[in-house]
Amino acid sequence: MERKGILAVMSGFSGAGKGTIVSRLLKDYDRYWVSVSMTTRPPRPGETDGVSYHFVTREAFEEIIAADGFLEYAEYQGNYYGTPKAPVLEHLAAGGDVILEIETVGAFKVREAFPEALLFYVVAPTGAELKRRLESRGTETEAQILGRLKKAAKEAEVINRYDYILVNDDLDEAVAACHSLIQREKTRAGRSLPLIARLREELEEITE
Ligand code: 5GP
Repeated sequence: MERKGILAVMSGFSGAGKGTIVSRLLKDYDRYWVSVSMTTRPPRPGETDGVSYHFVTREAFEEIIAADGFLEYAEYQGNYYGTPKAPVLEHLAAGGDVILEIETVGAFKVREAFPEALLFYVVAPTGAELKRRLESRGTETEAQILGRLKKAAKEAEVINRYDYILVNDDLDEAVAACHSLIQREKTRAGRSLPLIARLREELEEITE
């Protein structure tokens, strides 16, 4: 493959709509692949093993850590979450663009391992709007929502270290912006070295 795929990391405030943006990227364009994470947290109603996550025991997860099978992993609210390494590397090598939907600790680990990864953070336009979106889900108590907002305030301290902040005000615009940033990245000269080498060879052959 002359151009490897782009590794894009998506994090975001809970309720900001990062899952919706990722679903739309998958639906609207055919070149994205989303990694299915492994976790030790129990499945929630409606979640399917192998689709939402690979649900495993702590022992199984720790064996994979020991075998260096994760691209990154983190412990979040008492459970492990990790990105299985092999399928990500396979898709990138085949030229596909890979999306990881992960939290901030994992995102920064990905940056260490893959400095060329693009890190996106999704926010709602205002604090009040984030609160409204969490309330309209109707899945959590007022106290849980307050907890999520407090976590968001804390997380806001590190999001300046992401590459791009996507403001999810108009969903279509946020999806289009994300797609175009990922695709534009591919045209960077530094990512096109095999293509440049081929063109040089071809031109040398023609002009010999
Ligand atoms: P939830 O339990 O609500 O599905 O996920 C909790 C958090 O873990 C979310 O922020 C989610 O993006 C993150 N997460 C999901 N999979 C992974 C993963 O493979 N690695 C890391 N570091 N975080 C993950």
